[in-house]
Amino acid sequence: MAQSAIATSNVHPFPAVRPGFKLAPAAIGSPADGLQIVYIECPNWCTEDHVNEWQHSVDDVSHWGDSFGAGIPSFVNGDDVYELAARVYSDPSSQDPQMRLAHVMVENPAGMDGHLTPDMADETADDLIKLAAKLRTAARTARLANGGDSDPDMDEALRRVREGQSA
Ligand SMILES: [Zn+2]
Repeated sequence: MAQSAIATSNVHPFPAVRPGFKLAPAAIGSPADGLQIVYIECPNWCTEDHVNEWQHSVDDVSHWGDSFGAGIPSFVNGDDVYELAARVYSDPSSQDPQMRLAHVMVENPAGMDGHLTPDMADETADDLIKLAAKLRTAARTARLANGGDSDPDMDEALRRVREGQSA
């Protein structure tokens, strides 16, 4: 299996890599049948350790950027009830040309991951910025409803009434 994998276009016998890529060692095979180190073309944004994360075939190698994300906590149980994680990703052996290109993957532990072109990721980022603004508005509404007085935008007259002074 490893010998035939050498013939694929992902492996170069000498350092001739395209701009934006580096030669990286990758472990191909399996611990049971033996792992062979081959050099693959790996995009500069990829932070995967392709030796540690061995694959059966060079065609199984995909590229992963650093994961980043945000969790949604709950004061009911103390754990995150929802977690959003994303990273740059590409699968150079995919049948889908868009999967072969660098794109943004949003991980979905419950089902299919989201795959976004850079334009789609920009649009989604705009939506999430709007969501974040609404989250702040909701927080302010809840804080005011509970009699909180830490909001800097609170009407000064209301603040004086709360403090027992004449408005
Ligand atoms: Zn890589």
